Amino acid sequence: MENQTNNNIRPSWDEFWFTLALFYSTRGTCNRLRAACLLIDKNNRLVGAGYNGSLPGHPHCDEVGHLMVDGHCIRTLHAEVNAILHSTGDLEGATAYILGTPCIDCVRKLLAKKVKTIIFTRDYDNQARGGEYILELVKTSGAEIKRMDIDFHKTLAKETAILAGPGGAFFDPDIQLAMYWQRREDEK
Ligand SMILES: [Zn+2]
Ligand SMILES: [Zn+2]
Repeated sequence: MENQTNNNIRPSWDEFWFTLALFYSTRGTCNRLRAACLLIDKNNRLVGAGYNGSLPGHPHCDEVGHLMVDGHCIRTLHAEVNAILHSTGDLEGATAYILGTPCIDCVRKLLAKKVKTIIFTRDYDNQARGGEYILELVKTSGAEIKRMDIDFHKTLAKETAILAGPGGAFFDPDIQLAMYWQRREDEK
């Protein structure tokens, strides 16, 4: 019965991967956008991950300011590119989980690697150059792109509850014991 309860509160795969993307984004080096991308293969294994960041050894936007061209900061490698560059497995048929809205360059690269599904969390905006062609490119490749609403506050609360529960990394027997005695008190 206890197992069943635990299963009910486990995050879904979508919630799980997006939570991981959320944490990756905290390493981003450009505060115009802290994006992240995870690449998950056909067998639901993580085979690539990246965030928006300066090239290795280069200064960060957060330290020296942005490198603006046509209204966009071009100092960083996009999360999707970093994820592809550091991927460790076959990307054919993979799913890209993107925290942020992918630009057409990144969509093209993902499609070239035969990524089949692109899921992103933010509103799709076509303001970046060529954005209006993204859907067409995806369709021609026989791939799929979709936006997904993830309630991060709710998801993180659910995950934190698991971590604080039995067997979790934040589990504190003293707190559990105190709660037990409190309940005993309350029952009196
Ligand atoms: Zn920047
Ligand atoms: Zn991009």
